[in-house]
Amino acid sequence: MKNSIIPIFIPHLGCPNDCVFCNQRRIAAPKEPDAAEVKNIIEEGLKYSHRPQISFYGGSFTAIRRELMVSYLDAAYPYVASGRCDSIRLSTRPDAINDGILDILASSGVKTIELGAQSMDDKVLALSGRGHTAEDTRASSSLIKSRGFELILQMMVGLPGSARATELETAKKIRALKPDGVRIYPTCVIDDTPLYDMYKRGDYKALTVDEAADICADVAVIFREKSIPVVRLGLNPTDELSSGGVKAGAYHPALGEMVYSRVFYNDMAPLVPKDRPFEIAVPPRMLSIAIGQKKRNLPLFSALGDFRGIKVEKGLEAPEIRTVE
Ligand code: SF4
Repeated sequence: MKNSIIPIFIPHLGCPNDCVFCNQRRIAAPKEPDAAEVKNIIEEGLKYSHRPQISFYGGSFTAIRRELMVSYLDAAYPYVASGRCDSIRLSTRPDAINDGILDILASSGVKTIELGAQSMDDKVLALSGRGHTAEDTRASSSLIKSRGFELILQMMVGLPGSARATELETAKKIRALKPDGVRIYPTCVIDDTPLYDMYKRGDYKALTVDEAADICADVAVIFREKSIPVVRLGLNPTDELSSGGVKAGAYHPALGEMVYSRVFYNDMAPLVPKDRPFEIAVPPRMLSIAIGQKKRNLPLFSALGDFRGIKVEKGLEAPEIRTVE
């Protein structure tokens, strides 16, 4: 059995915010679970995992009714206290963190806090209806870290008013907050959202999958430079997303792989010899990333010189460019 996560979806019913990409205010959201259901989900998850982390996701956990939040933590904490679960993680908004909330989380087995920073540009945040500022993200990130929690920051690429330069700047500003990890989500235009209305009116131009993958490749390298892990790239495929819920934008179930194959190409391209035939040797685990989706990288490498192909080599730690006689 693997050490994993037990996900518990907490819809943010009655959220007072109006993020343009979010459909939670418009859809008939599933009813929020009660504490007994939370316990049932954990018991069920424990049948398949060893010392998992309990993860409350789906809304802004610390912005839901205080009494409800505490009832969820009270339901989950005994599993942490007894050692059956490792800890608790949750996701929330940057403006829903303060010392009092962190006191509650600290005494309830919470180890990891994910903040939806989304952008570090106040104009983009305003156009996206986020209702918080970049300063909120800075302040709550530093508070979270000073209290010893693990901090994961989420950023979105392709929000209204954003451009490539804005995304790279946001990535650098997020990196400066020294998170323990980041999630990168290209913006998807989902049915029943203000963003879909903007898109239909022509007030918002969505990124294509290719455009988003190109930007995300540069963003991922910004985090790599400081060894900050990207724990997720692109939305998790769900039935809703895969069955037509996404009306436009950069949704692709294999977006992560597309991004890393671009990173691979960008890393290798400056190193290829211009005047000698060459091949690229890769460890087996890197083959599909080296080739790219629909073999995208092969013609790109051929355009650089006398490219003889990609060769898999067991025991190799990292890719190598080799000249061929
Ligand atoms: S994304 Fe925005 S609107 Fe949707 S639940 Fe979270 S805070 Fe509320």
